[in-house]
Amino acid sequence: MEGIVYNIQRYSIDDGPGVRTTVFLKGCPLSCLWCSNPESQNPLPEVTWRYTSCKKCGICVETCPLELIKLDEDGIHIDRKSCDRCGKCVEACVQEALQMSGKRMTVEEVYDVVKRDADYYKVSGGGLTCSGGELLMQADFVTELFKRCRGDEIHTCADTSGFGTKEAMEKVLVYTDLVYYDLKYIDSAEHKKNCGQSNELILSNLVLVVEKGIPMVIRVPLIPGYNDSDENLTAIAKTVAELDDGIPVNILPYHRYGENKYRMIDRKYQLEDVESPTEEELDKAKKIIESYGLKCEISK
Ligand code: SF4
Ligand code: SF4
Repeated sequence: MEGIVYNIQRYSIDDGPGVRTTVFLKGCPLSCLWCSNPESQNPLPEVTWRYTSCKKCGICVETCPLELIKLDEDGIHIDRKSCDRCGKCVEACVQEALQMSGKRMTVEEVYDVVKRDADYYKVSGGGLTCSGGELLMQADFVTELFKRCRGDEIHTCADTSGFGTKEAMEKVLVYTDLVYYDLKYIDSAEHKKNCGQSNELILSNLVLVVEKGIPMVIRVPLIPGYNDSDENLTAIAKTVAELDDGIPVNILPYHRYGENKYRMIDRKYQLEDVESPTEEELDKAKKIIESYGLKCEISK
């Protein structure tokens, strides 16, 4: 079985307990305005362009058999809709300014990388985290990968937006030890406006994870001016507390680390005027969550 993977990060310490390997999967049905991994959204491999490495030599322009690359004073522009991902431009660029983000890998190939650090997982309480993109888009692949881990007693964490079918979620949960579950809005219209999809599936899958009794952490990206209103944070806290007030909540402060990635795929970043939340704003959000009896931490 194959999946489409765009990064495998070893020695990760931010994607679950202990030292972990994080496998980033391509494809996400959401399009959150603040997404810091926009290259993950397209389910297929795609060419990325590092403008800081590009010498504007034009070799890629001449190489593309479909003549899809244009060069101007700003650099290159690719007609991505027509690109067939042949990779010839990537091979031709000696500056390595062009790269193919995402490649097909078998479960075995990915697991070969994951199991290399089994000793670290044992010592640190770590394991494998599958992230994205949205892992539910590749539920069969993730399930197989997690199954291998279960066989070797490697801890598994599913880092999910929760947007996927019930069947996909049920499948993945069979071999999942911990769920990192994103909650951005309770109001479905706001979710649709800023994340591209309504959130009914997310809320129903949330109930499903709680009913299965799988340990979980709710993660709330805090985006000033978008989802940091008292009303939204209260609704999130109330929803979680009513399900199980033992579920911890992590607040993820908005940052603009992903901004430059948009240019790499010819897209415009839309939140360029939004600043990270202040300490006071973070503290206020934390207090609202805690007022519902929930344990709340602010991630770095
Ligand atoms: S992307 Fe590479 S091949 Fe294309 S113009 Fe830039 S340096 Fe030259
Ligand atoms: S991957 Fe192939 S088709 Fe796509 S831009 Fe590069 S050379 Fe052209």
